[in-house]
Amino acid sequence: MTTQNAWPENVIARYLTVGGATVDLFEESGYYIPTPPTQTRAHCNGCGTEQTEEWGFSIGAHEYGREQPAEFDTNGQWATPRAHRWAQSHAETCRAIPKPA
Ligand SMILES: [Zn+2]
Repeated sequence: MTTQNAWPENVIARYLTVGGATVDLFEESGYYIPTPPTQTRAHCNGCGTEQTEEWGFSIGAHEYGREQPAEFDTNGQWATPRAHRWAQSHAETCRAIPKPA
């Protein structure tokens, strides 16, 4: 089972798609703030689609609505659940499989 292979160090969660690929969640530094993790990123290894949820308040703040706290989203407590929801719903519909190496 490919899902039992060792996970990359910064992968915090993994979802199995209906196509048999995986969607990996990463906590990582953002482009603008090269420090310890500032965003949660979901990446589908089947089709390559990505969804990034910033922990900060400057990028995409208008999308957060009242759910987003006014200050920095420490540890991604708001952003990470959003990334999980995206990964779950993407995994339920994505039928792409990775091209063999
Ligand atoms: Zn996909």
